[in-house]
Amino acid sequence: MVVDNSNRKTEVAVIGGGPGGYVAAIRAADLGKTVVLIEERDRLGGVCLTEGCIPSKTLIHVVELVDAATHAKKMGLGFADLKIDLDALRAWKERVVDDLTQGVAGLLKRRGVEVVKGRARFTDNRTLVLKGADVSTIEFENCIIATGSRVRGVPGISNDGLWTSTEALGMSEVPERLLVIGGGYIGMELGMVYAGLGSNVTVVEFMPSILITADKDLVDVVAKNCRRKLDAIMLNSKVVELKRTNAGFDVAIERDGKTTHHPFDQVLAAVGRQPNTDDLGLENTKIKLNAQGLIETDKQCRTTEPSVFAIGDVVPGIALAHKASREGKVAAEVIAGHGASFDSVTVPAVVFTDPEIAYTGLTELEAKDQGIDYIKGKFPLAALGRARAIGRTEGFAKVLADPSSGALLGVGVVGPHASELIAGPTLALQMGATLENLMASIHPHPTLSESIAEAAEVAAGSPIHINPPRKR
Ligand code: FAD
Repeated sequence: MVVDNSNRKTEVAVIGGGPGGYVAAIRAADLGKTVVLIEERDRLGGVCLTEGCIPSKTLIHVVELVDAATHAKKMGLGFADLKIDLDALRAWKERVVDDLTQGVAGLLKRRGVEVVKGRARFTDNRTLVLKGADVSTIEFENCIIATGSRVRGVPGISNDGLWTSTEALGMSEVPERLLVIGGGYIGMELGMVYAGLGSNVTVVEFMPSILITADKDLVDVVAKNCRRKLDAIMLNSKVVELKRTNAGFDVAIERDGKTTHHPFDQVLAAVGRQPNTDDLGLENTKIKLNAQGLIETDKQCRTTEPSVFAIGDVVPGIALAHKASREGKVAAEVIAGHGASFDSVTVPAVVFTDPEIAYTGLTELEAKDQGIDYIKGKFPLAALGRARAIGRTEGFAKVLADPSSGALLGVGVVGPHASELIAGPTLALQMGATLENLMASIHPHPTLSESIAEAAEVAAGSPIHINPPRKR
């Protein structure tokens, strides 16, 4: 008897194996659903594991090690032979990515999720047709769209030969002169990686500041360090023309109505990403895209097509892996009949520059924008024993709170390990904590986490390690 294996029926089909999709698939399977996950790439883990969060942080770590070793001289530590072996670094990064992507494959297998390699498209609200797969159609009861996003080209110029973040992370070479177009988090992180590897890096940013969504005081600390490490940051500036030359690129940059020409060996385009929603056959469903090409969903991650859910970079909100994963769990739980909803009060944001920026809850920018009244406490790392001990005193923590109730509204940190420090305040916000709660939680000494409790004390008007305003 010949078994027709080309058509599948499943309770849940998940399109995309990134941090949204694979997490959703595992949760749905654990809740008793039959799950098929469709992924068109050879490796699982999506952009995050293969060409985003993980490879970038692996390189950033190595560049930070070099920097730390270089600065350790003042602490009496000298290295005679500090050099970067590019091939070994590339191999290390690939090993990290491989281990993690294989780990995801192992998790899916153990949970009984069937992974199908191929590209999926909707033909109606219950059926997917697959390209490049052994399976040709999948009939589902529920589907979760987790197809993520891809790089957006620089508008108005030829993008021929430009690096995207993917090529930059591929590290085929370390160009002598690198232009980064875009001073958002991806541009700044990769710009600093290449500066650390030895490139002369220029960043061009259209807006009046780099990292425009973060509070200015946080960004100022990073910008100061960038000015030491990068060749130039050109603000309010726009790349208007880009020509290939024998040496690389001739780039015309416009600022204040004046255009200047600059030679570069390589150009990295980092002006944003666009959702992978245009080739999904959504016209065969009731799902409509918004003006940004994103899929609108409700708090349960359900689209306007009741059988279909959408999560991660394809839906509105900050495009980050941890948000995608949380939405993945919510969608899977809703499908399994649980009363889940996206009730996370905040999605923390981290910029892995040197030093790092991290913030959670309300920013001052948002508070001012929305007319929300707040009190603020700021504590400099320079006043912290641990920061002194590790020789990293640049930066601060700040806490925003409601003036009448003391309820915590937001926390921002700029400094070493800010990415780790922001988890505690995120939990505090989720639990509706107040300044009092932060002050009463004993933060271990000597750690950088003390800066958060100290900032809360400043906000409450009772600091210990910095002086309160003088009494008249
Ligand atoms: P993705 O990870 O994009 O996964 C979608 C998957 O769907 C892909 O594997 C794709 O191949 C597959 N797919 C698409 N269409 C189809 C189809 N029709 N059929 C089958 N498969 C399909 N986020 C952080 O939180 N922290 C960071 O430090 C961070 N750093 C980043 C650094 C860089 C350089 C980049 C580019 C991104 C970074 N991000 C970071 C963002 C993060 O990678 C994304 O927010 C996250 O990957 C989104 O997850 P997702 O599951 O929605 O989609």
